[in-house]
Amino acid sequence: MSNITEILLQLKDKNITFDHVNISECDIRHKKSLVLYGKLTYTPDCCPNCHATIKKR
Ligand SMILES: [Zn+2]
Repeated sequence: MSNITEILLQLKDKNITFDHVNISECDIRHKKSLVLYGKLTYTPDCCPNCHATIKKR
């Protein structure tokens, strides 16, 4: 893993990629927050946490 965003967020899923240019600062619930835009490059069959089946669109 060589990308600073993934390192800072401690993301280990290589299927998540970030748009490193499109980062904005917003006010969320009265707190200044950084908003990152990412993409999950696959659709999992089930939730890794509760194993519920994910319906395909
Ligand atoms: Zn779940």
